[in-house]
Amino acid sequence: MKMQCDFLIVGGGFAGLTLAERLTTIAGKRCVLVERRDHLGGNAYDYHDEHGVLVHRYGPHYFRTNSPRIREYLSQFTEWHPVDYRILSHTGGRFWSFPVNLTTFEQYLGRASSPEEMEAWLAERRIPIGHPANSEEMMLSRVGREFYELFFEGYTLKQWKRHPRDLDASVCGRIPVRTTRDDRYLRETFQALPRAGYTRMFENMVAACGDRLEIRLGTDYRDLLPHVGYAHMIYSGPVDEFFGCRFGALPYRSLRFEPESFTADALRGREVIAGKPGFWQPAMQVNYPGGEPFTRIVEIKHATGQVCPNTTIVREYPEDYGPGREPFYPVPAPDAAALYARYKVLADAERSVSFVGRLATYRYYNMDQITGMALAEFDRLTGEWH
Ligand code: FAD
Ligand code: UDP
Repeated sequence: MKMQCDFLIVGGGFAGLTLAERLTTIAGKRCVLVERRDHLGGNAYDYHDEHGVLVHRYGPHYFRTNSPRIREYLSQFTEWHPVDYRILSHTGGRFWSFPVNLTTFEQYLGRASSPEEMEAWLAERRIPIGHPANSEEMMLSRVGREFYELFFEGYTLKQWKRHPRDLDASVCGRIPVRTTRDDRYLRETFQALPRAGYTRMFENMVAACGDRLEIRLGTDYRDLLPHVGYAHMIYSGPVDEFFGCRFGALPYRSLRFEPESFTADALRGREVIAGKPGFWQPAMQVNYPGGEPFTRIVEIKHATGQVCPNTTIVREYPEDYGPGREPFYPVPAPDAAALYARYKVLADAERSVSFVGRLATYRYYNMDQITGMALAEFDRLTGEWH
């Protein structure tokens, strides 16, 4: 006997879960959600490790949005813990205020300064480029060569294994540059984490679906296809994989995460560096643009506000994508965009499949943008029925 449903949803991240929740609760549809990992939440999954520390399994996930609609939607499933995300950079044997701001400039000069002096200094060094065509041009036109080489060139090469000049301007363009003391990493108006974690929020979304939603974890959708009948598919996996990589594989960047935990005892004496007891480093994230094999060390306990005597740090090592690895990042570059455009033609022609999410649309999107994309797809689908 085949399972029957209205929607087969492939992937249990923000895209799949938002659509599962909307389709079951608002439209009364029956859905089967299939996820090849052994948990829901996609890359935003978090969990308590064996030391009791709430950890983001797949790298730091800082929720932020400018959209009241997206915030209100998710607020049905979580309360929020407001955070001004603050990070540091570490190079040349010292910590730097980052992203580039007045304090960074003062650290560079080794004395006090002013926004006016920083403006004038940058104006002399900025390379005038009207429409930056890549990430190197973007940063040279915003901060000049010294800061570009100090903070961006090495980090980007390490993260992407591509030179900044071979990446879209938007990659480094994500990072703010300020001549004030505002050292927040992000620009959006709403910056907060789900108070009890992402996984709890996802559990609440699933609970709202009731028995209209059936979930299969640890299963590739292709193995389920012979056993399920459905009218429409929501697909949030890699778009090239859906079409058997017939035009060749799209490039992705992968990562390896190496956690290390410390008990309160092991942390004794570390306050000198961390600035307060119970922590290993002075910020939730420290970026390493230099020769280290990792790009950043994340101590998410700074951001979650969890009270716990132990702590866990996670070092992040960029890796090539391949068998057994996750396709964490689509590569924002012209060659990849050209190849994706060919897959998009195929995707657009699939009337009974919606391609939703970061991998299915091959874009470097944040969580709020994916939630917005899923809500828009729900509106489109329900619009079709009316
Ligand atoms: P995913 O979360 O990737 O979910 C897709 C799911 O589909 C996966 O769980 C996958 O296992 C499953 N799947 C794929 N193929 C199949 C198949 N064949 N069968 C069954 N299941 C399948 N965003 C922010 O807003 N703020 C941040 O700070 C931030 N930091 C990030 C840090 C890192 C290291 C990474 C990698 C991403 C970060 N993001 C951040 C982006 C964020 O993770 C994504 O925007 C969001 O998770 C995308 O949701 P999604 O549902 O599209 O995809
Ligand atoms: N970047 C950099 N130096 C830094 C931080 C970021 O060069 O210290 C560049 C790098 O190319 C990175 C991009 O800016 O991939 C975006 O950084 P972000 O922290 O937003 O990346 P994510 O959290 O998505 O990995």
